[in-house]
Amino acid sequence: MEILIIGCGAAGAAAAIAAAQAGHRVTVIDRNRKPLKKLGVTGNGRGNLLNLSDLRYYGDTAFAHQVLEAMPPKEVAVFLEDCGITLAEEDEGRVYPAANLASVAVDGLLHRMERLGVELLPCALAECIQPGKNGFSVLVTITEYAPDQVKANGKVKKGEAVAQRQLTLKADRVIVAAGGAAAPAHGTDGTAYGLLTALGHTLRPVKPALCALLTDAKPLKGLSGKRVRAGLALRAADGCLLHESNGEALFAEDGVSGIAAMQLARFVQPGCTLHMDLRYSLMGSENTDAAAWLRKRRQRLCEQRTAGTGSEPVSVAELFTGCAHPALQAAIERMAGLSSKEPASDAAIQQLAKAIEDFALPVTGTRDFDQAQVTAGGMDTAQFDPQTMESRLVPGLYAAGEMLDVDGDCGGYNLMFAFAGGLLAGRANASR
Ligand SMILES: Cc1cc2nc3c(=O)[nH]c(=O)nc-3n(C[C@H](O)[C@H](O)[C@H](O)COP(=O)(O)OP(=O)(O)OC[C@H]3O[C@@H](n4cnc5c(N)ncnc54)[C@H](O)[C@@H]3O)c2cc1C
Repeated sequence: MEILIIGCGAAGAAAAIAAAQAGHRVTVIDRNRKPLKKLGVTGNGRGNLLNLSDLRYYGDTAFAHQVLEAMPPKEVAVFLEDCGITLAEEDEGRVYPAANLASVAVDGLLHRMERLGVELLPCALAECIQPGKNGFSVLVTITEYAPDQVKANGKVKKGEAVAQRQLTLKADRVIVAAGGAAAPAHGTDGTAYGLLTALGHTLRPVKPALCALLTDAKPLKGLSGKRVRAGLALRAADGCLLHESNGEALFAEDGVSGIAAMQLARFVQPGCTLHMDLRYSLMGSENTDAAAWLRKRRQRLCEQRTAGTGSEPVSVAELFTGCAHPALQAAIERMAGLSSKEPASDAAIQQLAKAIEDFALPVTGTRDFDQAQVTAGGMDTAQFDPQTMESRLVPGLYAAGEMLDVDGDCGGYNLMFAFAGGLLAGRANASR
């Protein structure tokens, strides 16, 4: 059987290998010049490929669980190891290449595809899929680029697109693994949804996920670039908890990123507020009563005073000496409505404790798709079989990966869902 796969990302590569192992002729096309371009930059270049702890998916969570029941994480790990990728498990079930390099995973998958005789067609953009009596025709635009290694001839810059041509590829089965709308620099700008909507499939609303939150900038003055470990809660305008997360947060001039904040992005809605509990970063524990802790610090400073120098009251600023970056201290004071020099009275301590336990930032939105790692939303999963990834509307057509309405937390969940769906689609073709 001829299998055509649209998109050579994690899902497309897994599908190609699985289908080729079953003895089919497989062609994979990708609009990028380099296949698996995105995989090479994942996990800060380390490639968090899988997660072996509890599943953490959103969108159609039940569909994600069914896919990972049909293709369990351990089986995905076996597949990757079979591609020569040695894996190492770290904290919280996160699995990376033992080499700590996403690029070795790219190499392993590409090598396996090559050895299985998979035909790879780069710079090939699928424009539309036409089902016919005997399979499918896919209209493809091929872009030719000036070679990188050749100096510009004065008219054409190296690496520039110089020509385009169209061709029609025929296949018995088509697997669409063309990603979502996040990270368009990697070939995924959301236009590929049109391949499936043109065939009657439904696109559920999409928005950026795993990206920075944009917030009121005033409380963040001076904090840009500072990292804290914090408990984060996103609350709706009526105070209702939308989602919470724990871990590292990184302040920017106009918002908050870092894994803990990025995991909240998909839950952002108009009028919501980010509540940061900063106790861990100041006190080394999230469970300490902030007011009691501040009173204890004041007590220590008072005792040290009577033993030696002056007798002025302990100031607000002194409470933070040795435990907070000056910029964080200033931000907490601003949030509490206090100045550094005023005395650390009981009332001031109450206000500071509230600002530490609930550093509240009105959320104005999230960064856009170009700075998001993942897409929330996507193709309606009800129209696909989670055992095989086959469309329930168009027999012989399959979809896998981020283009479906499933997104996961940071930690390897998104690549794992892509690999698992790709393997199911590739193997489903095996049994026909
Ligand atoms: C910076 C960054 C870091 C990330 N880190 C992690 C991580 O560590 N762990 C994790 O689990 N997830 C991570 N993710 C998310 C993860 O990379 C994606 O969810 C995953 O790659 C999705 O796989 P996919 O195969 O569905 O799509 P993609 O990997 O996006 O591949 C889709 C491919 O389809 C091609 N394509 C699109 N349209 C067409 C068309 N019309 N014709 C031909 N080709 C087309 C694209 O060029 C692309 O190569 C990260 C994402 C980013 C951006």
